[in-house]
Formats: sequence, C-alpha cells, structure tokens
Amino acid sequence: MPDTESAIPLLELDRLSLSYFVRAGEMPAVTNVSLKLWPGESLGLVGESGCGKSTIAYAVMNYLGRAGRIVGGRILFEGRDMASLSAEELRRIRGARIAMVYQEPMSALNPSMSIGEQLAEVPIYHAGASMTEARSRARQLLADVNLPDPDRIMAAYPHQLSGGQQQRVVIAMALLANPALLLLDEPTTGLDVTVEAGVVELIASLRQRFGTSLLYISHNLGLIAQVCDRVAVMYSGQIVESGTIEEVFARPRHPYTRGLFGCIPLPTADKTARPLTPIRGQVTLPSERPRGCYFGPRCDSFIAGRCDATSASTTTSAIARSAPSSPARAAAPSRPMRRSASAPVRARPWRSSANPAAASRPLPRC
Ligand code: ADP
Ligand code: MG
Repeated sequence: MPDTESAIPLLELDRLSLSYFVRAGEMPAVTNVSLKLWPGESLGLVGESGCGKSTIAYAVMNYLGRAGRIVGGRILFEGRDMASLSAEELRRIRGARIAMVYQEPMSALNPSMSIGEQLAEVPIYHAGASMTEARSRARQLLADVNLPDPDRIMAAYPHQLSGGQQQRVVIAMALLANPALLLLDEPTTGLDVTVEAGVVELIASLRQRFGTSLLYISHNLGLIAQVCDRVAVMYSGQIVESGTIEEVFARPRHPYTRGLFGCIPLPTADKTARPLTPIRGQVTLPSERPRGCYFGPRCDSFIAGRCDATSASTTTSAIARSAPSSPARAAAPSRPMRRSASAPVRARPWRSSANPAAASRPLPRC
C-alpha cells in the first residue's frame, strides 16, 4: 500500500487493451483494464478460463507473441512506460526485476540440462556471479523452497522430479534473481490437491520472507484468499470487481463474483445444505460478446432493456472498492441486490473477520 500520495506503484496497468490478430480479424482479449500493484503487495487476478488473465501476464512480460499486441493504454513498471524501453532495458527487467511462473513447470525447464546447471545460469546471467557463487545460491534457494536433499536435486534432470518438485524448482529459479515482481499464472493447476496445498503455502511464506510483490492468477478464489491482499475479478476481458480480500469475500457485489463463490467447495460446509452451483453457460468468446453487459446472457439478475442496452455501456461495469489512491466508486443501486444463498459469508475457512463496514456500503449498479 502506498505511504504517500506520491508513491509510485510497482506495476500499473492504465486502461490497457490487448488484442490478438488472427485470420478472422482482431480478437480483443483484454479491454480497458486498469489496476495498480504496490511494492510488497499481493494481488489476485481471478476469473474463468478465457477471461484474459494470462494475456495480461504475457503482456507484462512482453511475451504476447506475433499475434498479440497492445492496442490501447499503457503498462508502467516502477513508473516507466514499458513501451518506451529499449530492447536491452526490457531484457534486463525481464528475469531480473520481473519473473514469471507458468502453469506447466516443464515449459520453463530445459529437459537436457541438470537442475543445478539451469539454476546457476540465472545469477551468472543477471548478476554476473561466478559459477561457484551461482551454484551455492541455487542450492540455497532449493533449500528455501523446501526441497529435501538439494544436492540430489541439483544433479537431477527435470524428468527425474515429480510435478510438485518441478514447480518448486521453477519458483526457486524465479526467485534467484530476487525479482521485485513475481507473476504466477495458475502455478498449481496441474498439481495434485495435496501437492497444491504445499506449493500455495510455500508461495505465501516466500512472499513474507522475500517481500516480493505478487500478481497471482488463478480461477480459484480460495487459493487467491490464502496468498493475496487484494483481488481483481475478470470477466470476458474486463475487471468487473476489485477490492480487498475481506471486502470481496464478505460481500461480493458483481453477479459474476457471486457466481464464482457458488462454485467453491467449502471444507466446513454441508454439501446438501449448500450445493455447488455452477455458473450456467460459458465465457463468451471475444468475437461473440453481447451488447451491454458481457455477463448478461449468463446472469440470473439480467434485466432486458437495461443490461443489454448499449447506452448503459457496451461493457460490464466495474465495481472497484478500496483501490489504493482511488476512492471507492460504487454507484448507487437502481435495485437492491439480493445476497446469494451461496455467498460464503458464514463459512469462510480462509479468513476470519468480515469487514464490519460492508453492511453499510452502498450497493452498486451492475
Ligand atoms: P485466461 O488466461 O483467463 O484463461 P487467456 O488470456 O488465455 O485467458 O485468453 C483470453 C482470450 O484470448 C481467449 O478468448 C483466448 O482464446 C484468446 N487467446 C489467447 N491466446 C491467443 C492467441 N495466441 N491467439 C489468438 N487468441 C488468443
Ligand atoms: Mg490462462
């Protein structure tokens, strides 16, 4: 969180729009997204598959590929517009100041090099370390990510490790350069549930220890709550709701966020009393977005003539709360929003206290 008004966010997306240019034409994957991540803060980006979460992470890494492009807005890292940086400056920032952990650890590991060799490359390349120093730091990081017997892991090849061990190695590799910002794109989705729990715990503890800022991408709100201070909910290329974990979990306002809560299994809940309710339908493709609110066709609160009116906006309106440096801008309601029976207000195993101010906050138009 900023100490003073003049504080500079570590990462700022300023009305960012990203498109892929494919044979069929332009696919607007991300439209008009703004968010700020402050030094030391952990921000979750949540939403179903296809909402544009990875596209944002790739854009920050400047890895959008040939088809992807920034078509509007800016990405600022430590106050500098990344589009204005030279190739050499970008190269230095990537890896050294910003690192990324992907869903599939093998995509980040070279199958033909031992773990020790590939880890040692990071301090050699980014910090000019000697081979001896680099190997010693690599070994230490393997111990830091709770891998037993770091010497054995250093000598092993990626295929000799389990999926959970590979992902710990990738996290160690990302942290070796001591980055200011770590992007985690569904880092545990490919792992077994018990292994996943260990890796999530590790990420939360490393964050405390190294003070690294995190942009944690997941489709799982429960995981985001364990690791993050704030959350931004994405639907079909836009942020539809954002706020602190406590606010959004105590009182999800956007129908899409409430729909996501309905899909989370709660360990303490009786599944007959609180059955899981999937959101009907699927995320609309960028090329098939409806008029008005993009969530309209799947929304139980849909009102014809209002939610599908272009005048309301051609987009889903964002509900932002407690965004540092921007006052709450929830609009007055045109109709009260009923609390979904499935909204996990009483049974929240991840955090204890609901925000007492929540009950008095105005409900937004959506
Ligand atoms: P998420 O990470 O939330 O699942 P993505 O960022 O991967 O979402 O995708 C957002 C949208 O962009 C989807 O409609 C997806 O099909 C499209 N998309 C992603 N990558 C490409 C690409 N390389 N070329 C064309 N379209 C893409
Ligand atoms: Mg993704």
